[in-house]
Amino acid sequence: MPDDKTPAQSLATRLPHSGRSSGRTRAFVNPPLHRGSTMLHVDTADRLHDGSRMYQQSDTYGVYGNATHHALENLVAEIEGGTRCQITSSGLSAATTAMLAYLRAGDHCLVPDSVYGSTRDFIDDLLNNFGVVTQYYDPALDAAGLAPLFRPNTTVLYLESPGSHTFEVQDVPALAALAHEHGAKVLLDNTWGIRDFQPFQHGVDVSIQALTKYPVGHSDVLLGAVIVNDDADWTRLRKAALALGQYASPDDCWLCLRGLRTLDTRLQQHFSSAIEIAAWLQDRPEVKQVLFPALPGAPGHALWKRDFTGACSLFGVVFQPEWTAPDLNAFIDALELFGIGSSWGGFESLAIPTYGTITRTVSSGDFGGLIIRIHIGLEDPTDLIADLRQGFATLHHHRRST
Ligand SMILES: *Cc1c(COP(=O)(O)O)cnc(C)c1O
Repeated sequence: MPDDKTPAQSLATRLPHSGRSSGRTRAFVNPPLHRGSTMLHVDTADRLHDGSRMYQQSDTYGVYGNATHHALENLVAEIEGGTRCQITSSGLSAATTAMLAYLRAGDHCLVPDSVYGSTRDFIDDLLNNFGVVTQYYDPALDAAGLAPLFRPNTTVLYLESPGSHTFEVQDVPALAALAHEHGAKVLLDNTWGIRDFQPFQHGVDVSIQALTKYPVGHSDVLLGAVIVNDDADWTRLRKAALALGQYASPDDCWLCLRGLRTLDTRLQQHFSSAIEIAAWLQDRPEVKQVLFPALPGAPGHALWKRDFTGACSLFGVVFQPEWTAPDLNAFIDALELFGIGSSWGGFESLAIPTYGTITRTVSSGDFGGLIIRIHIGLEDPTDLIADLRQGFATLHHHRRST
């Protein structure tokens, strides 16, 4: 029998249409921006219902979110393939809220050594003061290597794939299966994999997103999200988020909704430029290795190919060991189109040194040379390559003159 159901539309098609009125109604294309703390009630009976509404998308009190938040929650949940989403004030607070929802005193938590630096600071400076025992593990470990690290009280396996700055790709399905055998929850920082890695199809229980990056896309808003895929996880997460007072400005949510309309198109351009530039860099004699899982031959490429449908434009460049930190500083300083700054996912290219700034305690983080991190923006890749070429000229000139 022919199926006359509308076939599932691709994300590129859904992004411009979801979370707004797109039927035949007289309305502006974009939803209104709602602001507010106090929500007025119909009567006292209505007011007395408030307590039961904290898990629903119901206008009750500002901190519970309003229609602007709900539109963003739904769109982010859709992109990630989950059921519900909690918006938080930053990507970091998405990570900390998720951890606080699932960890209590006496618990043991496994965290990759390549975890985002500020998440690491939260663990070392705060979480460990509350009786949680955190153990860092080498992000290169496979399931057989990680298995002996589980303890009877291991309740959370934290993943970040690829890892911050060193881009190790984890075998998420195998590691998630292992964690579930031990009764642990699987939390994944999926910021790099937005659009291209479907966490819940790979065994993840809780996905963390720094919306600050590609979703916002314009380097002007900080925002985070935690996404889950079942009711029990939603209850747990929502309770923790409200207890912590997690809230984001509706103005920022509205700007993120605007950014998401073009997420797919921007990522296509980011990726096609990044893969071209990464391949060009890989052929440079000054470069030992490019840490971009989407690049054939790069570390993690096989897992990336198996589990991801695409990639973004953030990668590491390992220089040959002969190049020193002052040489590479001169290289970065010479670039005219690459800003020197934290964060990524905006329309502009960035380059930063990672030497001297990243912490590794159980893995070496050593790829045989100093590493710089590059974010490829929306500029013409030909111009970016020309800029990098003159950067390399400066690099050689710098060495000759010192
Ligand atoms: C940037 C980033 C974060 C934190 O996001 P902010 O919005 O800057 O707090 C978390 N995780 C990863 C992997 C990131 O790159």
